[in-house]
Amino acid sequence: MTWHVLGIGSLGSLWAIRLARAGLPVRLVLRDADRLAAYRAAGGLTLVEQSRAQRLDLPAELATDESPIQRLLLACKAYDAEAAVAALAPRLAPGAELVLLQNGLGSQDAVAARVPLARCILASSTEGAFRDGDFRVVFAGHGFTWLGDPHAIAPPAWLNELERAGIPHGWTPDILSRLWRKLALNCAINPLTVLHGCRNGGLAEHPAQVQELCAELAGLLRLCGQPDAAQDLHDEVGRVIQATAANYSSMYQDVAAGRRTEISYLLGYACAAAERHRLVLPHLQALLRQLRAHLAERGLPLD
Ligand code: NAP
Repeated sequence: MTWHVLGIGSLGSLWAIRLARAGLPVRLVLRDADRLAAYRAAGGLTLVEQSRAQRLDLPAELATDESPIQRLLLACKAYDAEAAVAALAPRLAPGAELVLLQNGLGSQDAVAARVPLARCILASSTEGAFRDGDFRVVFAGHGFTWLGDPHAIAPPAWLNELERAGIPHGWTPDILSRLWRKLALNCAINPLTVLHGCRNGGLAEHPAQVQELCAELAGLLRLCGQPDAAQDLHDEVGRVIQATAANYSSMYQDVAAGRRTEISYLLGYACAAAERHRLVLPHLQALLRQLRAHLAERGLPLD
Protein backbone atom coordinates (compact mmCIF):
# COMPACT_ATOMS: atom_id res chain seq x y z
CA MET A 1 0.00 0.00 0.00
CA THR A 2 1.47 3.35 -1.05
CA TRP A 3 1.91 6.16 1.46
CA HIS A 4 0.93 9.39 -0.27
CA VAL A 5 2.48 12.29 1.65
CA LEU A 6 1.07 15.79 1.21
CA GLY A 7 3.11 18.55 2.86
CA ILE A 8 6.79 18.10 2.11
CA GLY A 9 7.92 20.43 4.88
CA SER A 10 9.60 19.60 8.17
CA LEU A 11 7.43 16.83 9.56
CA GLY A 12 6.20 15.43 6.23
CA SER A 13 9.76 14.99 4.94
CA LEU A 14 10.80 13.35 8.20
CA TRP A 15 8.03 10.78 7.85
CA ALA A 16 8.42 10.29 4.09
CA ILE A 17 12.15 9.62 4.27
CA ARG A 18 11.91 7.17 7.17
CA LEU A 19 9.05 5.25 5.50
CA ALA A 20 10.94 5.09 2.20
CA ARG A 21 14.18 4.00 3.89
CA ALA A 22 12.25 1.05 5.35
CA GLY A 23 11.42 -0.02 1.81
CA LEU A 24 7.79 1.16 1.93
CA PRO A 25 6.29 2.75 -1.19
CA VAL A 26 5.99 6.54 -0.80
CA ARG A 27 4.71 9.16 -3.23
CA LEU A 28 4.94 12.89 -2.52
CA VAL A 29 2.07 15.22 -3.44
CA LEU A 30 3.18 18.74 -4.34
CA ARG A 31 1.04 21.85 -4.45
CA ASP A 32 1.61 22.91 -8.08
CA ALA A 33 3.71 22.42 -11.18
CA ASP A 34 6.30 25.02 -10.06
CA ARG A 35 6.89 23.22 -6.75
CA LEU A 36 7.08 19.88 -8.57
CA ALA A 37 9.68 21.31 -10.96
CA ALA A 38 11.63 22.78 -8.03
CA TYR A 39 11.54 19.40 -6.27
CA ARG A 40 12.85 17.64 -9.36
CA ALA A 41 15.57 20.27 -9.80
CA ALA A 42 16.63 19.71 -6.16
CA GLY A 43 17.10 16.01 -6.99
CA GLY A 44 14.90 14.80 -4.13
CA LEU A 45 14.37 15.28 -0.41
CA THR A 46 17.30 15.67 1.96
CA LEU A 47 17.23 14.71 5.63
CA VAL A 48 20.02 15.89 7.93
CA GLU A 49 20.46 13.64 10.96
CA GLN A 50 23.35 13.98 13.40
CA SER A 51 25.07 16.31 10.89
CA ARG A 52 24.86 13.65 8.14
CA ALA A 53 22.80 14.51 5.08
CA GLN A 54 20.98 11.85 3.06
CA ARG A 55 19.10 12.62 -0.15
CA LEU A 56 16.33 10.39 -1.47
CA ASP A 57 14.77 10.91 -4.87
CA LEU A 58 11.20 9.89 -4.01
CA PRO A 59 8.51 9.84 -6.72
CA ALA A 60 6.36 12.96 -6.69
CA GLU A 61 3.10 14.06 -8.29
CA LEU A 62 0.45 16.77 -8.20
CA ALA A 63 -2.84 16.71 -6.31
CA THR A 64 -4.57 16.85 -9.70
CA ASP A 65 -3.14 13.49 -10.83
CA GLU A 66 -5.78 10.81 -11.21
CA SER A 67 -4.48 7.63 -9.58
CA PRO A 68 -6.46 6.61 -6.48
CA ILE A 69 -5.15 7.30 -2.99
CA GLN A 70 -5.70 4.68 -0.31
CA ARG A 71 -3.51 6.09 2.46
CA LEU A 72 -2.64 9.74 2.90
CA LEU A 73 -0.29 11.34 5.37
CA LEU A 74 -1.39 14.97 5.68
CA ALA A 75 1.57 17.00 6.92
CA CYS A 76 0.78 20.60 5.94
CA LYS A 77 0.04 23.37 8.46
CA ALA A 78 -3.38 23.36 10.14
CA TYR A 79 -4.54 26.39 8.11
CA ASP A 80 -3.81 24.59 4.80
CA ALA A 81 -5.29 21.21 5.74
CA GLU A 82 -8.93 21.57 4.69
CA ALA A 83 -8.21 23.07 1.25
CA ALA A 84 -5.45 20.53 0.58
CA VAL A 85 -7.75 17.60 1.33
CA ALA A 86 -10.66 19.11 -0.62
CA ALA A 87 -8.42 19.17 -3.70
CA LEU A 88 -7.52 15.49 -3.24
CA ALA A 89 -10.95 14.22 -2.17
CA PRO A 90 -11.99 12.94 -5.64
CA ARG A 91 -8.92 10.67 -5.66
CA LEU A 92 -9.63 8.97 -2.34
CA ALA A 93 -10.42 5.25 -2.77
CA PRO A 94 -13.27 3.61 -0.85
CA GLY A 95 -12.08 2.96 2.71
CA ALA A 96 -9.19 5.43 2.38
CA GLU A 97 -7.29 6.34 5.52
CA LEU A 98 -5.85 9.76 6.36
CA VAL A 99 -3.27 10.45 9.04
CA LEU A 100 -3.55 14.06 10.21
CA LEU A 101 -0.32 15.46 11.68
CA GLN A 102 -1.64 18.98 12.36
CA ASN A 103 -0.99 20.61 15.71
CA GLY A 104 -3.86 22.07 17.74
CA LEU A 105 -7.55 21.39 17.16
CA GLY A 106 -10.13 22.45 14.61
CA SER A 107 -8.43 21.49 11.36
CA GLN A 108 -9.13 17.78 11.94
CA ASP A 109 -12.91 18.34 12.07
CA ALA A 110 -12.75 20.54 8.96
CA VAL A 111 -10.84 17.82 7.09
CA ALA A 112 -13.15 15.02 8.27
CA ALA A 113 -16.19 16.97 7.07
CA ARG A 114 -14.65 17.13 3.57
CA VAL A 115 -14.13 13.35 3.38
CA PRO A 116 -17.00 11.75 5.31
CA LEU A 117 -16.34 8.28 3.89
CA ALA A 118 -12.65 8.16 4.79
CA ARG A 119 -11.15 7.18 8.13
CA CYS A 120 -9.27 10.05 9.76
CA ILE A 121 -6.55 9.10 12.22
CA LEU A 122 -5.35 11.98 14.38
CA ALA A 123 -1.76 12.41 15.50
CA SER A 124 -0.03 14.37 18.23
CA SER A 125 3.73 14.50 17.87
CA THR A 126 6.61 15.75 19.99
CA GLU A 127 9.18 15.08 17.26
CA GLY A 128 11.05 18.17 16.12
CA ALA A 129 12.28 19.09 12.66
CA PHE A 130 12.96 22.27 10.72
CA ARG A 131 13.80 23.24 7.18
CA ASP A 132 17.25 24.68 6.49
CA GLY A 133 16.68 24.86 2.74
CA ASP A 134 14.13 23.97 0.12
CA PHE A 135 13.34 20.23 0.30
CA ARG A 136 15.97 19.90 3.04
CA VAL A 137 15.01 19.06 6.61
CA VAL A 138 16.98 18.79 9.84
CA PHE A 139 15.85 16.19 12.39
CA ALA A 140 16.17 18.38 15.49
CA GLY A 141 14.57 16.50 18.35
CA HIS A 142 13.61 12.91 18.98
CA GLY A 143 10.09 12.50 20.28
CA PHE A 144 7.00 10.36 20.15
CA THR A 145 3.81 10.39 18.11
CA TRP A 146 0.46 9.40 19.57
CA LEU A 147 -2.12 8.21 17.06
CA GLY A 148 -5.81 7.56 17.55
CA ASP A 149 -9.26 7.65 16.03
CA PRO A 150 -12.00 9.38 18.07
CA HIS A 151 -14.60 7.22 16.28
CA ALA A 152 -13.04 3.73 16.48
CA ILE A 153 -10.89 1.99 19.04
CA ALA A 154 -9.23 -0.60 16.77
CA PRO A 155 -5.81 0.44 15.45
CA PRO A 156 -5.14 0.26 11.71
CA ALA A 157 -3.28 -2.77 10.37
CA TRP A 158 -0.32 -0.69 9.16
CA LEU A 159 1.04 0.42 12.57
CA ASN A 160 3.77 -2.21 12.13
CA GLU A 161 4.98 -0.20 9.10
CA LEU A 162 5.76 2.71 11.41
CA GLU A 163 7.65 0.25 13.61
CA ARG A 164 9.68 -0.87 10.59
CA ALA A 165 10.33 2.75 9.64
CA GLY A 166 11.64 3.54 13.15
CA ILE A 167 8.93 6.14 13.84
CA PRO A 168 8.32 6.02 17.62
CA HIS A 169 4.57 5.87 18.12
CA GLY A 170 1.73 4.58 20.24
CA TRP A 171 -1.97 3.98 19.66
CA THR A 172 -4.32 5.63 22.12
CA PRO A 173 -8.09 5.28 22.50
CA ASP A 174 -8.16 8.90 23.66
CA ILE A 175 -6.29 10.97 21.11
CA LEU A 176 -8.53 14.00 21.77
CA SER A 177 -7.32 14.15 25.35
CA ARG A 178 -3.69 14.17 24.09
CA LEU A 179 -4.46 16.91 21.56
CA TRP A 180 -6.27 19.04 24.16
CA ARG A 181 -3.41 18.62 26.63
CA LYS A 182 -0.85 19.67 24.03
CA LEU A 183 -3.05 22.60 23.01
CA ALA A 184 -3.27 23.73 26.65
CA LEU A 185 0.51 23.49 27.12
CA ASN A 186 0.94 25.50 23.95
CA CYS A 187 -1.57 28.18 25.09
CA ALA A 188 0.16 28.54 28.46
CA ILE A 189 3.65 28.94 27.00
CA ASN A 190 3.91 29.97 23.35
CA PRO A 191 1.91 33.24 23.23
CA LEU A 192 3.68 34.54 26.34
CA THR A 193 7.10 33.83 24.80
CA VAL A 194 6.03 35.92 21.79
CA LEU A 195 4.73 38.80 23.91
CA HIS A 196 7.69 38.82 26.31
CA GLY A 197 10.15 38.19 23.45
CA CYS A 198 11.88 35.41 25.38
CA ARG A 199 12.95 31.79 25.32
CA ASN A 200 10.69 29.31 27.11
CA GLY A 201 12.87 29.60 30.21
CA GLY A 202 12.17 33.35 30.37
CA LEU A 203 8.64 32.54 31.57
CA ALA A 204 10.10 31.58 34.95
CA GLU A 205 10.08 35.36 35.53
CA HIS A 206 6.31 35.55 35.00
CA PRO A 207 4.95 32.86 37.35
CA ALA A 208 1.68 34.64 38.18
CA GLN A 209 0.73 35.02 34.51
CA VAL A 210 1.48 31.36 33.82
CA GLN A 211 -0.48 30.29 36.89
CA GLU A 212 -3.56 32.34 35.91
CA LEU A 213 -3.56 30.93 32.39
CA CYS A 214 -3.19 27.35 33.64
CA ALA A 215 -6.12 27.77 36.04
CA GLU A 216 -8.35 29.08 33.24
CA LEU A 217 -7.21 26.41 30.79
CA ALA A 218 -7.83 23.63 33.31
CA GLY A 219 -11.38 24.94 33.85
CA LEU A 220 -11.95 25.04 30.09
CA LEU A 221 -10.66 21.49 29.61
CA ARG A 222 -13.00 20.17 32.30
CA LEU A 223 -15.97 21.98 30.76
CA CYS A 224 -15.09 20.56 27.36
CA GLY A 225 -15.24 17.02 28.77
CA GLN A 226 -11.47 16.60 29.04
CA PRO A 227 -10.79 16.23 32.79
CA ASP A 228 -7.73 14.00 32.22
CA ALA A 229 -6.13 16.69 30.08
CA ALA A 230 -6.68 19.19 32.91
CA GLN A 231 -4.94 17.06 35.53
CA ASP A 232 -1.83 18.75 37.01
CA LEU A 233 -1.61 21.10 34.03
CA HIS A 234 0.25 23.81 35.92
CA ASP A 235 2.87 21.32 37.17
CA GLU A 236 3.51 20.05 33.66
CA VAL A 237 3.72 23.55 32.22
CA GLY A 238 6.38 24.29 34.85
CA ARG A 239 8.30 21.15 33.91
CA VAL A 240 8.15 21.99 30.19
CA ILE A 241 9.35 25.55 30.83
CA GLN A 242 12.31 24.16 32.77
CA ALA A 243 13.14 21.30 30.42
CA THR A 244 12.99 23.51 27.31
CA ALA A 245 14.35 26.68 28.94
CA ALA A 246 16.92 27.29 26.20
CA ASN A 247 14.44 26.84 23.31
CA TYR A 248 12.41 29.39 21.45
CA SER A 249 8.81 28.20 21.09
CA SER A 250 7.49 27.33 17.62
CA MET A 251 5.18 30.36 17.73
CA TYR A 252 8.07 32.63 18.71
CA GLN A 253 10.08 31.25 15.77
CA ASP A 254 7.18 31.70 13.33
CA VAL A 255 6.67 35.34 14.37
CA ALA A 256 10.40 36.09 14.34
CA ALA A 257 10.66 34.68 10.82
CA GLY A 258 7.56 36.60 9.62
CA ARG A 259 5.64 33.35 9.05
CA ARG A 260 1.93 32.81 9.61
CA THR A 261 1.19 31.19 12.99
CA GLU A 262 -1.35 28.44 13.75
CA ILE A 263 -3.04 30.71 16.33
CA SER A 264 -6.61 29.86 15.20
CA TYR A 265 -6.02 26.19 16.00
CA LEU A 266 -4.38 26.85 19.38
CA LEU A 267 -5.18 29.90 21.54
CA GLY A 268 -7.92 31.00 19.11
CA TYR A 269 -9.53 27.55 19.29
CA ALA A 270 -9.42 27.58 23.12
CA CYS A 271 -11.06 31.02 23.29
CA ALA A 272 -13.74 30.03 20.75
CA ALA A 273 -14.51 26.90 22.79
CA ALA A 274 -14.85 29.04 25.93
CA GLU A 275 -17.25 31.37 24.12
CA ARG A 276 -19.34 28.42 22.91
CA HIS A 277 -19.71 27.36 26.56
CA ARG A 278 -20.35 30.98 27.66
CA LEU A 279 -17.31 30.72 29.89
CA VAL A 280 -15.53 33.97 30.68
CA LEU A 281 -11.75 33.50 30.80
CA PRO A 282 -10.37 37.03 31.18
CA HIS A 283 -6.66 36.17 31.10
CA LEU A 284 -6.87 33.82 28.14
CA GLN A 285 -9.08 36.21 26.18
CA ALA A 286 -6.79 39.17 26.95
CA LEU A 287 -3.84 37.06 25.81
CA LEU A 288 -5.53 36.41 22.46
CA ARG A 289 -6.24 40.14 21.99
CA GLN A 290 -2.62 41.05 22.81
CA LEU A 291 -1.24 38.34 20.56
CA ARG A 292 -3.42 39.45 17.65
CA ALA A 293 -2.35 43.08 18.18
CA HIS A 294 1.28 41.92 18.15
CA LEU A 295 0.74 40.02 14.88
CA ALA A 296 -1.09 42.98 13.34
CA GLU A 297 1.82 45.32 14.17
CA ARG A 298 4.08 42.97 12.22
CA GLY A 299 1.69 42.61 9.28
CA LEU A 300 1.10 38.91 10.00
CA PRO A 301 -2.26 37.15 9.53
CA LEU A 302 -4.48 37.28 12.63
CA ASP A 303 -5.92 33.81 12.01
P1 NAP B 1 6.09 23.17 7.17
O1 NAP B 1 7.54 22.85 7.35
O2 NAP B 1 5.67 24.58 6.96
O3 NAP B 1 5.57 22.29 5.95
C1 NAP B 1 4.27 22.38 5.46
C2 NAP B 1 4.32 21.91 4.01
O4 NAP B 1 2.97 21.81 3.53
C3 NAP B 1 5.05 22.84 3.07
O5 NAP B 1 6.03 22.09 2.39
C4 NAP B 1 3.96 23.30 2.12
O6 NAP B 1 4.38 23.44 0.78
C5 NAP B 1 3.01 22.14 2.16
N1 NAP B 1 1.67 22.44 1.67
C6 NAP B 1 0.77 23.36 2.12
N2 NAP B 1 -0.36 23.31 1.39
C7 NAP B 1 -0.18 22.35 0.45
C8 NAP B 1 -0.97 21.84 -0.62
N3 NAP B 1 -2.19 22.30 -0.86
N4 NAP B 1 -0.47 20.85 -1.40
C9 NAP B 1 0.77 20.37 -1.18
N5 NAP B 1 1.60 20.80 -0.19
C10 NAP B 1 1.11 21.79 0.62
O7 NAP B 1 5.24 22.61 8.40
P2 NAP B 1 5.66 21.60 9.56
O8 NAP B 1 6.56 22.30 10.51
O9 NAP B 1 6.10 20.30 8.97
O10 NAP B 1 4.26 21.45 10.30
C11 NAP B 1 3.21 20.63 9.82
C12 NAP B 1 2.25 20.39 10.99
O11 NAP B 1 2.94 19.59 11.97
C13 NAP B 1 1.85 21.69 11.71
O12 NAP B 1 0.54 21.63 12.15
C14 NAP B 1 2.80 21.74 12.90
O13 NAP B 1 2.31 22.47 14.00
C15 NAP B 1 2.91 20.25 13.23
N6 NAP B 1 4.14 19.90 13.96
C16 NAP B 1 5.37 20.28 13.48
C17 NAP B 1 6.51 19.92 14.18
C18 NAP B 1 7.90 20.31 13.69
O14 NAP B 1 8.86 20.04 14.38
N7 NAP B 1 8.04 20.92 12.56
C19 NAP B 1 6.41 19.18 15.37
C20 NAP B 1 5.13 18.81 15.83
C21 NAP B 1 4.00 19.18 15.11
P3 NAP B 1 5.39 24.57 0.24
O15 NAP B 1 6.75 24.03 0.57
O16 NAP B 1 5.10 24.56 -1.21
O17 NAP B 1 5.03 25.83 0.96
